[in-house]
Amino acid sequence: MAKILPAVLGSKSEILDLGRSRRLHTAAQRKAIRIKHHQCQTDGCTVPAARCETHHPHARSAGGKTDLDNAALLCCHHHHRAHDTRYLTQQLPNGDYRFTRRT
Ligand SMILES: [Zn+2]
Repeated sequence: MAKILPAVLGSKSEILDLGRSRRLHTAAQRKAIRIKHHQCQTDGCTVPAARCETHHPHARSAGGKTDLDNAALLCCHHHHRAHDTRYLTQQLPNGDYRFTRRT
């Protein structure tokens, strides 16, 4: 059965919004995210975008899509923290993230 998915095209016609058809963000999506964010999106972290990874804030296992709207740029350290259940993830009004150890 064919899947019909909404797609957003980038300047070179790369598909940037892939819905749930793909697990990992593509190179074009990662490039678009790095244009928007120049460093890790964790409050106070200054690791440059080139050394960051893309994260699904709304987990795929919970229905999150592989879209730009569901992509955060995090350094390796904070990406692990985002998946560490010992920490709470809070999104700040400016879009950045803060991880707080659960008590
Ligand atoms: Zn970081």
